[in-house]
Amino acid sequence: MSLSAAERQELAKQLRERAVALRKEMESKLDEATDEARDAGARGDSGDRSFAAAESEVDAGEAQRDQSELGAIERTLARIEEGSYGVCIECGADIPIERLRAQPLASRCTKCQSDREAREARLR
Ligand SMILES: [Zn+2]
Repeated sequence: MSLSAAERQELAKQLRERAVALRKEMESKLDEATDEARDAGARGDSGDRSFAAAESEVDAGEAQRDQSELGAIERTLARIEEGSYGVCIECGADIPIERLRAQPLASRCTKCQSDREAREARLR
């Protein structure tokens, strides 16, 4: 663990702010989707209804991405609490603070991340 307490706090703060922003975003999207569904229902036009349905599918995809990012943020905050944050989950090397500042959700060092991406690219 090469991170100082101040660095850990700085990154935890960044993550918590991101989590708050994401939750707000999810709430307002949910409101929007509800409004759209209501509008479409009130008009009773089948063309509008299928448009609204297609739109809410897009929203669902976005909501899922937001949800999984939120989950990753929560897992990362838990790792900060328990003190395992900032260490590569593959090889145990310290992840440089510059990388964590740019990508606070990073759980691998640059080398393991690129090895993993290369493996995944081969599997595709
Ligand atoms: Zn590594």
